[in-house]
Amino acid sequence: MYDVAIIGGGHNGLTAAAYLSRAGLSVVVLEKNAVAGGAALTEEFHPGFRNSVASYTVSLLDPGVIRDLHLDDHGLKIIERPAANFMPIDRGKAFFWPYGMAAKQAEIAKFSVRDAEQYPRYDAALDRAAAVLRDLTKKTPPNAGGGWLDVLKGAGIGRRMLGLSLDDQRVLTDLFTKSAADFLDPWFENEHVKALFAFDGIVGSFAAPSTSGTAYVLLHHCFGEVNGKPGVWGHAVGGMGAITQAMARAAEKAGAEIRLDVPVARVVVENARAVGVELKSGEIVRARAVAANVGPKLLFRDLIDEKDVDPPLYRRFTNIKTGSGTFRMNVALSELPNFTSRPGSKPGAHHGAGIVIAPTIAYMERAYLDAKRDGWSHEPIVEMLIPSVLDESLAPKSQHVASLFVQHVAPKLTGGRSWDDEREKERFADVVIETVTKHAPNFRSSILGRQVLSPLDLEMRFGLVDGDIFHGQLSLDQLFSMRPVLGHADYRMPISGLYLCGSGAHPGGGVTGLPGRNAAREIVRDLKGWF
Ligand SMILES: Cc1cc2nc3c(=O)[nH]c(=O)nc-3n(C[C@H](O)[C@H](O)[C@H](O)COP(=O)(O)OP(=O)(O)OC[C@H]3O[C@@H](n4cnc5c(N)ncnc54)[C@H](O)[C@@H]3O)c2cc1C
Repeated sequence: MYDVAIIGGGHNGLTAAAYLSRAGLSVVVLEKNAVAGGAALTEEFHPGFRNSVASYTVSLLDPGVIRDLHLDDHGLKIIERPAANFMPIDRGKAFFWPYGMAAKQAEIAKFSVRDAEQYPRYDAALDRAAAVLRDLTKKTPPNAGGGWLDVLKGAGIGRRMLGLSLDDQRVLTDLFTKSAADFLDPWFENEHVKALFAFDGIVGSFAAPSTSGTAYVLLHHCFGEVNGKPGVWGHAVGGMGAITQAMARAAEKAGAEIRLDVPVARVVVENARAVGVELKSGEIVRARAVAANVGPKLLFRDLIDEKDVDPPLYRRFTNIKTGSGTFRMNVALSELPNFTSRPGSKPGAHHGAGIVIAPTIAYMERAYLDAKRDGWSHEPIVEMLIPSVLDESLAPKSQHVASLFVQHVAPKLTGGRSWDDEREKERFADVVIETVTKHAPNFRSSILGRQVLSPLDLEMRFGLVDGDIFHGQLSLDQLFSMRPVLGHADYRMPISGLYLCGSGAHPGGGVTGLPGRNAAREIVRDLKGWF
């Protein structure tokens, strides 16, 4: 008998376990896979070559979580990229995105002097909006239908908004309601400048830059920081698995038990209360509370008996929108890509940047429409990261590993085709490699081995329904008090004693640790009566 049984040992389950154990509760984490970490995992995918399997770059991880769990003492080291982004364009042109205002303006001025002048105002406005979001991510959203505490929470947030200038309120409203393309249009004129910023708006979203709601996704990718530097993205030495291994050690040190290879088959409900879980093996693990690190759609569809929830509410949970439309590859490389636009195979700052192939908004729109019609595009959006440039532990000397994160593949294929079909998967993987090779001619021939994950693979390996990297789209109807479902944004699910502690809860996806930490706070409140 435990105080809390956690279904899933993803980074949020581990974070929740650590906080709950530190509060003196007895906790067991039950993970279906042989290694904890969920979508934040490192593995050897080709002899001698290791890389992050799914998530691959860090910024959103909350500094409070790093501090509270002493992740540094448990071996976590995060380093900044030498430059933020590099966007190869055709005919040898590229948009290099360094750090520092003057350097950024100089790079933008190569495309538009007007945009370079405009950029500091845009950057400052986005920073202020990101600061508001950063505050909100740490709070339990006011719950619709809740009590006086929720009214107070709502008033507190209202006061925070009213503290902003009217101009900032306008920007924030734009970000919460518009498409990324509509948001960026009044700011910038150059198509490449707009494309680089719009890219953040479609990451993990099966949506075009012109789709309403993508401006919020853009903002969501800006609230993070690395080593105290806001908006910067970095690399966890050893890959994303280094984060979750440090979290697992922190949870165990605080007293949590982590069990691996134990898939949960169902939540056990007695007298309308969650009292534990049944494992696939038939073993029952009893607990005073159950916290689900799995996504809400999977939780209700697969692990909860329909009769235990009011039917319309059950349907709401099982119809949460999922399907981020992403495809993930790792490649082992004999040498670094030699870009036509920046020749040389010796490590350069651009090799350590997020290399984005999405040169215009029109390119991204086309990739989305192609994927809607045909399942995937012959000109997909690819972000490539080469972490071995920053981290020698990942590949043999002078050789490299690259993560390829591809946007806009349909979560399910139609017309008799399926991601189950290896040939379909490998055909698209070849298209991805050709897409990079167009900009770096030595890329295809430098590949020594590859790992390919379709949306279906992401679902089978990690339980990400429809391959959704966020456990449910970050669309306006699934954010804040509406995440996962209106009336259940306070991490408490419609069965007493059942909580949600993963990315399907506020503030959503990304390696943040925040749903886990926020949920743990609510569970402690209920089990220990702490206010
Ligand atoms: C391809 C890809 C790229 C991404 N890139 C980035 C990135 O670069 N940076 C970033 O910040 N975020 C990124 N993300 C998003 C981020 O990785 C996720 O939002 C986050 O890791 C989710 O963490 P979680 O703990 O909420 O859930 P998960 O990591 O999904 O953990 C859930 C856990 O539950 C387990 N589980 C499932 N079913 C059962 C069961 N029946 N019984 C027991 N256990 C079960 C799973 O095995 C898993 O370990 C990416 C995600 C993907 C998929």
